[in-house]
Amino acid sequence: MQLIFATHNKNKLKEVKSLVPDSIQLLSLDDINFDTEIEETAETIEGNALLKAKTIYEKTGINCFADDSGLLVDALNGAPGVYSARYAGEQKNNEDNMQKLLYELQNHANRNAHFKTVMALILDGKEYLFEGKIEGKIITEKLGTNGFGYDPIFIPDGYNETFAQLDSETKNTISHRARALQKMLEFLVTSSVLRTPPSKEE
Ligand code: IMP
Repeated sequence: MQLIFATHNKNKLKEVKSLVPDSIQLLSLDDINFDTEIEETAETIEGNALLKAKTIYEKTGINCFADDSGLLVDALNGAPGVYSARYAGEQKNNEDNMQKLLYELQNHANRNAHFKTVMALILDGKEYLFEGKIEGKIITEKLGTNGFGYDPIFIPDGYNETFAQLDSETKNTISHRARALQKMLEFLVTSSVLRTPPSKEE
């Protein structure tokens, strides 16, 4: 089956391509020559994921999914959340965002946080949402150079290194995005849209 992943982000596309079975022909927005930026105007992560998926489904009529993610920090009542990309301003700068977060957390002993991804799937006109989470802690300094976003200041529970110190294979196995994607693939298999399990080794 054909399935559009409503993203221009090459890293995400690579991560998702490595996890989907061969029976899915994954198309990106570049593959369908859609070069407009979809404004993320919703007030929730769920809302933005749905907005992106619906926009593309309505334009193409092809089954489609989109993701939206954020970092939710307990001591900040879930901020930056849906505003994670532009926490320090519309310049959407990772460095500025991390500095702001470290500043906001400087007097907080509770450093618990989690990343959350919502994948919105539009399948034959019906909407489905899948959520993936990874719990961890925000440290007080940046460590590591891999990844993007808040990776250098987030240590996932059960590990001693930040997302930016872990190799991409490890991160892509345990990440919020991978977990949401896995749920979506399981749904596609159990609802008989796909006949083969979601494994490249099959
Ligand atoms: P997006 O919806 O996946 O583009 O994520 C929105 C923002 O959340 C990104 O710009 C990052 O600031 C942050 N974020 C999402 N996923 C990750 C991750 O895996 N590592 C670090 N930051 C992330």
